Amino acid sequence: MEPQGPSRRALFRGQLLSRPVALIGDACLAEAGIVCRSCGDACPASAIRFRPRIGLPPQAIVNEAVCTGCGECVDACPGATITLGAAHGGDAA
Ligand code: SF4
Ligand code: SF4
Repeated sequence: MEPQGPSRRALFRGQLLSRPVALIGDACLAEAGIVCRSCGDACPASAIRFRPRIGLPPQAIVNEAVCTGCGECVDACPGATITLGAAHGGDAA
């Protein structure tokens, strides 16, 4: 009998977890009440969406399954709060 390797799902998840994705930090201008969509505008993969909130500007959310780790959003962020790092393993889509 052939040895059982990791499932395709596990391999895909492993790929997701091992490649860098955009991580949005606490200094996002939206948290200070300033409307900003620069990261979303800069993303060639359309991996950043903006979740509406009551009382604060929309919150930038990275879809880790779509983010390619290109870093365009890092340079575009006026709050200098985006870094590239290991995926959380979640999909915020
Ligand atoms: S790293 Fe690239 S693909 Fe990922 S969110 Fe930023 S701009 Fe989009
Ligand atoms: S570009 Fe930076 S400051 Fe602007 S919404 Fe994105 S993470 Fe927040």
